[in-house]
Amino acid sequence: MDVKRAKQGFIKFIRIYPFIAVGLLVLAYLVGGFSQTTKPLVPRAIVMGLFYVLIGVIPVVITIIFVAIGISEDRSRARNLKNPINFGQEDPFTLAHEKMCGYKVVALSGENPTFTGITGDTYKKDDNAICRQFPEHIPPASGCECGFYAFKKRSDAQFELSMHPGLFLIEVDLFGIGFSHKYGYRAESQRVNSLILAKGCTRCKILPPRVFVRSFRLGTGNNTWWQWSARCWVCAKNIKAADRLTIEQMSSHLQVMIT
Ligand SMILES: [Zn+2]
Ligand SMILES: [Zn+2]
Repeated sequence: MDVKRAKQGFIKFIRIYPFIAVGLLVLAYLVGGFSQTTKPLVPRAIVMGLFYVLIGVIPVVITIIFVAIGISEDRSRARNLKNPINFGQEDPFTLAHEKMCGYKVVALSGENPTFTGITGDTYKKDDNAICRQFPEHIPPASGCECGFYAFKKRSDAQFELSMHPGLFLIEVDLFGIGFSHKYGYRAESQRVNSLILAKGCTRCKILPPRVFVRSFRLGTGNNTWWQWSARCWVCAKNIKAADRLTIEQMSSHLQVMIT
């Protein structure tokens, strides 16, 4: 079974579950399931059963599946650390022979906006990976986690973005030595080609983003005190001039196209 795809599907289902549950309950109400009439369209026992399944059984099952996913991920991580050979089944034969173009999510942090990965590492438009754990490594070292990562498919990065609202989607090219995995690459150096803005403002989610604003925020890593987000004109109205950049200014600061 493709665990990653199954997990994605599961999370997507949880997002729409409240609508399914409310929809079914409204339907049950409309067919008279909750009324006291002697002859309802649908027997009361069935409606009550549905009610308990929707608000009791399914949420418990969802919680159990989440715990199981967490345990299995912890176990496979521990297994990989113990036996590096397992790590993503990387061997010289999985070295990428194709051009490594991919997508990933990134935060813009720092007083001056800087690309900041989910792990808190910062990088420039063009950069070589370094290994913090083993400085003698030349990433991507086999059996280690070092190197630049990117998804092959934009939809995978888009899903990752939906799990980390407030971050940005970027398109990158990877160079040098790189491992090709089922979903992505891990490579030596990276060039950021473009930053793809979401359709909606980070705050209201409705109007298109027109300006980057920075706000002070607690975070992990060494450069995450200032966090940049893309807002519409309305949501950026009360932000003082020192804390904002136009899309053009941000683009020239990062030296990256913003689309
Ligand atoms: Zn390493
Ligand atoms: Zn807005």
